[in-house]
Amino acid sequence: MAYSEPLILLVDDSQVSIDFLKDILRNYRLLTAKDGMEALRLAGSEPRPDLILLDVVMPGIDGYETCRRLKQMPNCAGVPIIFLTAQTGAEHIIKGFEAGAVDYIPKPYNIPELLARVKNQLTLKLARDQNINLMQKIESINRQIVAGIRYARKIQKASLPQQAYMEKILPEHFIFFQPKEIVSGDFYWVGKVGEHLVVIVADSTGHGVPGAFMSMYGLALLNQIVGAQQISCPATILDNLREQVIASFNQTQLSEIKDGMDISVVSIHPKSKTLQFAGAFNPMYLISDSELKVISADSMPISIGVKDRPYKNNVLSYKAGECLYLVTDGFASQFGGIFDKKIKSSGLKKLMLEYSQLPIREQKDAFASYFEEWKAGGEQTDDVLLMGLRL
Ligand SMILES: [Mg+2]
Repeated sequence: MAYSEPLILLVDDSQVSIDFLKDILRNYRLLTAKDGMEALRLAGSEPRPDLILLDVVMPGIDGYETCRRLKQMPNCAGVPIIFLTAQTGAEHIIKGFEAGAVDYIPKPYNIPELLARVKNQLTLKLARDQNINLMQKIESINRQIVAGIRYARKIQKASLPQQAYMEKILPEHFIFFQPKEIVSGDFYWVGKVGEHLVVIVADSTGHGVPGAFMSMYGLALLNQIVGAQQISCPATILDNLREQVIASFNQTQLSEIKDGMDISVVSIHPKSKTLQFAGAFNPMYLISDSELKVISADSMPISIGVKDRPYKNNVLSYKAGECLYLVTDGFASQFGGIFDKKIKSSGLKKLMLEYSQLPIREQKDAFASYFEEWKAGGEQTDDVLLMGLRL
C-alpha cells in the first residue's frame, strides 16, 4: 500500500473556498465535494480518502449530519474528519467532536496552522493503518503456524499406540492424556514381547513443539528397542534408550542440548504374575490391599547426566485385581486449588488410593474431574499423562 501521497477529500459548498484549499494542499492528492451527499458518495467509493476536511454550513445536510453519517459507514469509520468552521464557540466545537470529528480548523484560515493540523492527522492515520496491517500480518502468520501444529498433532496422534491395539493386548486400563499445548512432549508406548506386556509412559524435556519432536524420536527408538529387538527387561530398555539418545544428539557433558526424557517402563508377565520395573525419575505406583507401594525410579535422566550407571531393574509379584499407575510429573505439578498450590505427588497418591476402588473405566473421569476442578480454568502447567491398569 502506498502511503507517500495521502488522499484528502475537501467538502465545501463554496467554490472559492475549495480553490483556496486546493492551492494550499497542492502537495496532496485531492478529491472535492460540493455538499454532504456528494461527500458521502465519494467517501464510500474507491479510492478512499485518508482524511476529510468538512465544511459545517452547507445546503442540504450540514457538516455535523454528514460527519455522523460518515462515521456510520463501515469503511469510513476510521477516516479522520476535520471541521472547517467559522463557529469556534465551545458549544459548536463540542458538537463537532460529538459528531465524530477529530479536530477543527478555524476560518479564516491560518495556512501554517491548517497544514500542521492536516499533517498531524495524516501521521496518526498512517500509524493506525500500519498497526492494522501489522495485526493482520501477525494474525495470518499465527493462523499458518497453528494450522501447521494442528496437522503435526494428527501425525503425533497416529504415532501413539492405537486404541484398538491397546484394548486387545492390555488388561483393563485407562489413559488420561492432556497435552498443555496442541502437540505433546508426554507420550506412551505399549507392546508385546513374547509373554511380556511392555507398558511405557514418558515425558520429554519441555512441551509444545520441542517436546513433541523429542517424543516422536522417543517413540521411534522404542519401536526399535522393544518392538524390533524384542527387549522386555525394563532396565535394559532404559540403558539402550539412554545410549541411543546420547549418541544421536552427540551429547557430552559440555553440550548445549542435554534434552531427553523421564520415563517409566513396566514389563508385566501375567503367567507368573510378576512385574519388572525400571524408571528414569518417574516411579511406578501399585495399590495392593488398599496400600500404596511406590517403586522408585533412578535419579538419572534419559540423556547425558552426571551419573551413568545401569538402571536398576525391580522385580515384584502382584495379585490379580491390583491397580498399577504410571504418570508423568504434569498431574502433580498442576497449580490451583484454594491456595494456588501444586497437587503434588502426595495429593496424587491420595487420589490413587481413593480412586483405585472404582471400576477402571470410571477412574479416568475421576482423575480428570479432580484435575479440572483443581486447575479451575487456570493455565495448565505441563503436559499431563496418567495411565492406570487393573492387573
Ligand atoms: Mg512434564
